[in-house]
Amino acid sequence: MNTRRTIHEPAREVPVLAEPDVLVVGAGPAGLAAACAAARAGAATLLVESYGSLGGTLTLVTLGGLCGIHAVLDDERLGRVVGGLGLELEDRLAKVDAILPPRRHGRIVGVPYDSVRLKIVLDEMAAAHGVEVLLHTSAVAVSTEGRRIAAVFVENKGGRGAIVPRIVVDASGDGDVAARAGAAYELGLAGETQYGSAMFRLTGVDTARAGALSRAQIRACLERAVAEGMPLPRTATGVHLNPIDGIAHLNVTKPGRPDGSPFDLSDPLQLGDAEREGRRQVHLYEEAFRRHVPGFERARVVDIGARVGVRETRLVRGDRVLTESQVRACEKPADRIACSAWPLENHGRGRTTNWEFLPDGQWYGIPWGCLVVEGLDNLLVAGRNLSAEHGAQASVRVAGPCMALGEAAGTGAAMSLAAGGEPRALDLGALQSRLRAEGAILDPAWA
Ligand SMILES: Cc1cc2nc3c(=O)[nH]c(=O)nc-3n(C[C@H](O)[C@H](O)[C@H](O)COP(=O)(O)OP(=O)(O)OC[C@H]3O[C@@H](n4cnc5c(N)ncnc54)[C@H](O)[C@@H]3O)c2cc1C
Repeated sequence: MNTRRTIHEPAREVPVLAEPDVLVVGAGPAGLAAACAAARAGAATLLVESYGSLGGTLTLVTLGGLCGIHAVLDDERLGRVVGGLGLELEDRLAKVDAILPPRRHGRIVGVPYDSVRLKIVLDEMAAAHGVEVLLHTSAVAVSTEGRRIAAVFVENKGGRGAIVPRIVVDASGDGDVAARAGAAYELGLAGETQYGSAMFRLTGVDTARAGALSRAQIRACLERAVAEGMPLPRTATGVHLNPIDGIAHLNVTKPGRPDGSPFDLSDPLQLGDAEREGRRQVHLYEEAFRRHVPGFERARVVDIGARVGVRETRLVRGDRVLTESQVRACEKPADRIACSAWPLENHGRGRTTNWEFLPDGQWYGIPWGCLVVEGLDNLLVAGRNLSAEHGAQASVRVAGPCMALGEAAGTGAAMSLAAGGEPRALDLGALQSRLRAEGAILDPAWA
């Protein structure tokens, strides 16, 4: 694989499949929200997704819960930091009995959800907002004219085609469109990203006993397994209970290269290695939990995500970069279009996960310029590939803030078109008013 040889690909005419106002690439929480928001604001919107369902990591990888929606105010109270389309999604899940109340693990809060029902709920939500969806279709190339994206080329079972949009929102998670358009980006911190994880669900779990375990207790159990010779790469984790009784969700694997370093998950060969290593570890952890963790004696893997979970690849350079120091200082810039209170959650080297919490009741704002791609006039980014430093992305990348970023990107894209201008020149006061009117949170109620 990967010889140095090249071969000429003949130029050819390809069909123009669509000419939407807004093209959103990637249907994870960011892309889904971006598409719904753009369509809601009146733009003809096309959402293109490589896989066969909406939801990205939420449905393809499957998560323990929707995180980053609430801030911890004190030992008892929570406060919302994400509303708008994130809240609409929670309401839709509640109607089909597919969500549980927020669950606390100390200072970590997640909202457990049913990832299977979520697939159907997201189809309905996209349709309700008037989003056109093209599944099983990948954005593979871009043509530019000056500072503008002229076309995004896609491939699917029908072959190759072009989409000619007025504005593109790159919510691919990996900055695929931005990278192919020549935008600058960083790969993690000096080329080293956070580790990904293969996610899995166990059935046959005594959820009463398992759910009573603290993270420290689980860690002690898994460290005992390591002491007894099991080569577990990670021992820091929590048990996520699911709306389905008897099922527990585990976020514990840590696939890495043979030398222990993280894979570069934007490299297809390493991505494949991570898939295989992640599955191998699922088997290892099933055994470790059965033997060492109370409540899991009869547990059995019932499901592994359709793909390995990717926390970080390309961080696309925007007009502004969300810095780690801004997050730590809980800065609230006047040009913010979303906010977050999630800790800096860093899956770096070693068997632990590094959590650094903001002070109780604190939050920070994300400026519009973190979504506007440097050097290009009609490209926005949303979600985990936003313009941020590695340390800041470790906080802003979870589902709640990603939905808020997507909602801002989609609304901003549609408003730019309506105003006949470009996202960079958008009236930010008008965008903020529109977002607030739609229920997005830019000033958390308790603050
Ligand atoms: C292992 C793991 C556990 C996590 N646990 C939690 C948790 O418990 N709670 C939480 O809130 N967050 C969690 N996160 C973080 C959260 O899932 C992600 O940060 C969030 O999903 C990012 O959203 P996104 O929309 O930016 O990207 P993604 O969810 O990655 O979605 C990107 C989408 O784009 C599609 N795509 C990619 N390239 C292309 C292309 N070229 N053309 C078309 N489509 C494309 C992908 O198929 C995918 O659907 C976890 C992440 C990982 C990896």
